[in-house]
Amino acid sequence: SAVLRLSGIEKVYNPGTPGEVNVLRGVDLTVNTGEVVALVAPSGAGKSTLLHIAGLLDTPDKGAVEIAGEAMQGRSDRRRTAVRRDQLGFVYQFHHLLPEFTAIENIVLPQLANGVSRVEAEARAQSLLASVGIAARASHRPAALSGGEQQRVAFCRAMANAPKLLLADEPTGNLDPETSALVFDALMTLVRDTGLSALIATHNLDLAAQMDRRVRLDAGHLRED
Ligand code: ADP
Ligand code: ADP
Repeated sequence: SAVLRLSGIEKVYNPGTPGEVNVLRGVDLTVNTGEVVALVAPSGAGKSTLLHIAGLLDTPDKGAVEIAGEAMQGRSDRRRTAVRRDQLGFVYQFHHLLPEFTAIENIVLPQLANGVSRVEAEARAQSLLASVGIAARASHRPAALSGGEQQRVAFCRAMANAPKLLLADEPTGNLDPETSALVFDALMTLVRDTGLSALIATHNLDLAAQMDRRVRLDAGHLRED
């Protein structure tokens, strides 16, 4: 079954002005349960726009977004927020961890916000940190961690509430190539171990090659590679 289905997605910025940009011109994409899909696109091709639409942070001008079987058009902001919280996990190029909290607290807090008990939340956070190889860093604040460690914590935070779909925008894009490969391995292990589905934007073709499928954004259209 499909965890994400985009059909006929169109998005224009600044319509009817000289600055008009037709970013997406009818994009169809299905991510099936358990599938990890690479979204490959040169800079400016619209990958952030597409991820924001899939992540319910933005709405398309035309087309349908379905998350875990639920059609999102016409849904209230409240419902969209609930779907984002319960079904989706986000990872960005820059980790956006809360600097004043420790690594483990950054993973515990979203769970507490979701009604999980502290004991349960801490156990889950510890186990997530262990699965990406940084259990010993649990009580460090982000500033005391390396870039690769910070991204691993961000992956754990994205997994904190056991989402159905992970959306990642250049998740290792700010790391040197060697660290990037290691951190990406940690992410893939986490995704595979939890049976998570993912849509991961990258322009690193070595990373894209490790995913189940590759789709390419080209002149507003999405093509299977
Ligand atoms: P990518 O993530 O692939 O670099 P984006 O989705 O960020 O691409 O942007 C795609 C195109 O749309 C770019 O030409 C960008 O300048 C333009 N764009 C993005 N956001 C806006 C906006 N809010 N207003 C106007 N143009 C935008
Ligand atoms: P950048 O282009 O700097 O990497 P991001 O991809 O981190 O930006 O964020 C893109 C947009 O998504 C921003 O408008 C940001 O406010 C919003 N955003 C980032 N993280 C979240 C989140 N967890 N929930 C809701 N909105 C978010």
